[in-house]
Amino acid sequence: MTTPSTPLTSANAALLFPVLSTAQILRIASHGLIRPITRGEVLIEGGQTNVPFFVVKAGEIEVIRPSGLGALLIAVVRANEFTGDISMILGRPAQMRLCASQSGEVVQLTRDQMHALIQTDAEIGAVLMKTLIYRRIELVARGVGDAVLIGSAQSAATLRIKTFLTRNDHPFKYLDLDRDADVRDLLDRFRVEPAELPVLICRGETVLKNPSNQEVAECLGFNARIDWAYQRDVVIVGAGPAGLAAAVYAASEGLDALVLETSSPGGQAGSSSRIENYLGFPAGISGQELAGRAYAQAQKFGADVMIAKSAAELTGEREAYGVRLDDGATIPARVVIIATGARYRKPALANLGRFEGVGVYYNATFMEEAQLGDGDEVIVVGGANSAGQAAIFLARTGRPVHVLVRSSNLSESMSRYLLRRIEEASTIQVRTRTEIVALEGNGRLERVTWRDGTGAVSSHDIRHVFLMTGAEANTGWLKSQVALDVKGFIKTGPDLTPDDLAAAQWPLERSPYLLETSRPGVFAVGDVRCGNIKRVASAVGEGSIAISFVHRVMAE
Ligand SMILES: Cc1cc2nc3c(=O)[nH]c(=O)nc-3n(C[C@H](O)[C@H](O)[C@H](O)COP(=O)(O)OP(=O)(O)OC[C@H]3O[C@@H](n4cnc5c(N)ncnc54)[C@H](O)[C@@H]3O)c2cc1C
Repeated sequence: MTTPSTPLTSANAALLFPVLSTAQILRIASHGLIRPITRGEVLIEGGQTNVPFFVVKAGEIEVIRPSGLGALLIAVVRANEFTGDISMILGRPAQMRLCASQSGEVVQLTRDQMHALIQTDAEIGAVLMKTLIYRRIELVARGVGDAVLIGSAQSAATLRIKTFLTRNDHPFKYLDLDRDADVRDLLDRFRVEPAELPVLICRGETVLKNPSNQEVAECLGFNARIDWAYQRDVVIVGAGPAGLAAAVYAASEGLDALVLETSSPGGQAGSSSRIENYLGFPAGISGQELAGRAYAQAQKFGADVMIAKSAAELTGEREAYGVRLDDGATIPARVVIIATGARYRKPALANLGRFEGVGVYYNATFMEEAQLGDGDEVIVVGGANSAGQAAIFLARTGRPVHVLVRSSNLSESMSRYLLRRIEEASTIQVRTRTEIVALEGNGRLERVTWRDGTGAVSSHDIRHVFLMTGAEANTGWLKSQVALDVKGFIKTGPDLTPDDLAAAQWPLERSPYLLETSRPGVFAVGDVRCGNIKRVASAVGEGSIAISFVHRVMAE
């Protein structure tokens, strides 16, 4: 049984269901086949991998959320319209069931044929990509998909899973134990005790109790299609702006590229509420949106992106490297690009770990904001642009925001446009030469003690602290297999001294290329690289130009 509501067609119909011309349909048909459909025929089953793409020539197709989560008619695809959402490009399993509701005729393409179409026909490629992205945005916004998360705003694990799904652009419905009336019924139906929360219900069939990000990715099939066992031209470690740019350029220039990402595409930039200084976005763009676009773009060109997979070691030798994963598998590669970026340094506070996700946060996005009560006072620690963005984002609803910074002013470390906004915001108070000395609370953060510039120590009933302090390179996994600087960032090109190269037994006549590390054919780009300018644009630039050196190495 389906209900009459159709969330996807109720708004923005022209964006979500563009009508193709006869000439366009003919061009699409030249990549696939034309075949009849019969009323009642299931064209795609929820959870199916290798999802085909359909253009309706005659008849109608219903898009239905499978019954495990309560059947729901999502949309009706009519003549001259087409099926699909961005999952097709990402190679993920189908979230919806597609069923012919009126007999007729369709053009049918396999995923590979659809990829070929997008890459060779720029006009149709643009229409399809735009539409598939809009559809995904709409599904995410409406929480209509194949997953239901039941949790609590008081749980760090709930926030982690929400963040993971959101930053992977996976639509899900969130139900809060303390706020949503129908939670108990659902828990009874799936035989889950409140103490076992958070739980993720996948496709209405599988119940994951407090799953790790890897388990979520596996259950939802994020990596289902990827064959990681054969040698790639290039393996890119990290899917922040630098890694995704490298993937776009590598794949678009014909290289077989695979990207590994511990968590979600976008890296640090993905956690930015609004990036305003990246070229081409005069109104700014959220990090999440920029990351989602780059992720789809990399896959459009044929790069594979493995989610929730961490590199644990670099193995092998020149032309036959391997990247060993934390689950033990090793991915062979001719060339490796390290784009593992940086993360905030954690201050040495005794019980910090107890409050992470329940009062202490490392991002300031809508998800963390949803943990706060209306008007709750917050602290942002840090003096760089990320702290400035966080303060402005959190203060926009009028809540009091304290910015704590160890130095004597912000102007040394923050962009002028952010400083001006902070100065103009009446609810933001900057406290220079001030640092947190203690956190207290029972189960969650309840009280913060700080020491100010005069040495005075005071305690405050503030329940939320956003930590955005200093950057630490994500190079622990490399175990010094490439030369690092004293702070742990990777040395490349002209920064490598003769001593570095001698210690690494550099085997070639030539010197390392720009962005090449102390091992031939291993490059480092973006924030992880020593001397890098820590900006989205420089990460993207380095990721892109690294590919020209990859070609040179492969030609040697
Ligand atoms: C909140 C915030 C706001 C910002 N705002 C701006 C701004 O407005 N403008 C601007 O220009 N810059 C901004 N920046 C800086 C910018 O985001 C970074 O310079 C940029 O993201 C660096 O890109 P990257 O790809 O080098 O590294 P990262 O973004 O750090 O990405 C590295 C990726 O590698 C992954 N990874 C790490 N270790 C492993 C491993 N072992 N295996 C697999 N994957 C791994 C990480 O999970 C991550 O996704 C901001 C940063 C933050 C934190």
